[in-house]
Amino acid sequence: MTQEVRVRFAPSPTGPLHIGGVRTALYNYLFAHKMGGKFIVRIEDTDQARFVPGAEEYIKESLDWLDIQADESPWQPGETGPYRQSERKPDYMQYALDLVKKGHAYYAFDTPEDLEAMRERLTAARVVQPQYNNITRTQMKNSLTLPEDEVERRLASGEPYVIRVKIPRQEEVRLKDLIRGWVVVHTSTLDDKVLMKSDGMPTYHLANIVDDHLMGITHVIRGEEWLPSAPLHVLLYRYLGWENSMPEFAHLPLLLKPDGNGKLSKRDGDKLGFPVFPLDWKNQKDGSSAPGFREQGYLPEALLNFLAFLGWNPGDERELFTKEEL
Ligand code: GLU
Repeated sequence: MTQEVRVRFAPSPTGPLHIGGVRTALYNYLFAHKMGGKFIVRIEDTDQARFVPGAEEYIKESLDWLDIQADESPWQPGETGPYRQSERKPDYMQYALDLVKKGHAYYAFDTPEDLEAMRERLTAARVVQPQYNNITRTQMKNSLTLPEDEVERRLASGEPYVIRVKIPRQEEVRLKDLIRGWVVVHTSTLDDKVLMKSDGMPTYHLANIVDDHLMGITHVIRGEEWLPSAPLHVLLYRYLGWENSMPEFAHLPLLLKPDGNGKLSKRDGDKLGFPVFPLDWKNQKDGSSAPGFREQGYLPEALLNFLAFLGWNPGDERELFTKEEL
């Protein structure tokens, strides 16, 4: 029996969904339907500082307008939820502690000032990319450098800490991307990313891996801006003992500005002469607003066809395809 295809669209509610995100959602949706699988929406809301009230509702309304319906989502749960990461904090901590126990992660007690001083030291020494890594961690306050009883004391006293992944010094990480082919990265270029933050929330990296695993995701289809994070994700799958069920990766090329200079951003709408958001957007945090396709009179089918055929063409003259045909 072959495994059921399960893909996910995992937006962060840090602002309105823009057409790049719609395109990622659409590719996941079409792939799931073509393969007779499931399309899941998961809200990645662990970054409290960047959270924008109303953004999740905006994402839901946008997907509804475009009729990109999820088989499972926070608004229509299935078996593998919850689908909002902020609702499963203790689960992530358990996996982070498991990594500490196995020696693949460690506690770090550095203050923002300690980290700033480290960056200044490294910049003064002309280090191009100042990082918390296998070399610099030896000079910092963490459970790899402090005596064990000192670590216990700090933890017991409620001192703020983060949990960082311990990246090995000399290793090659290989992953096969369905679009890019083999990607090989040397661990000396990676840093000891934070997995659990001092507020008890996981970072994107840990939460993303844990949820993709627990939700049985078979294919991760997302924007290319996440390709640099993928080697870390491969290491986390390995360290958590999930390497054999690791999903396949497909990193989609980004939508660029018309001059090819950088990623299409929220600010490009005016210059392009068409909106970049599905619906009118009003930011409840800073009061900013932007027009949407719906309010400007575009039809959802037009937007979906436009996005589906960016960078690809079925080889005929037709301009409009139904979702089933796509
Ligand atoms: N939450 C991430 C985002 O905002 C998702 C990245 C991923 O799909 O792994 O784009």
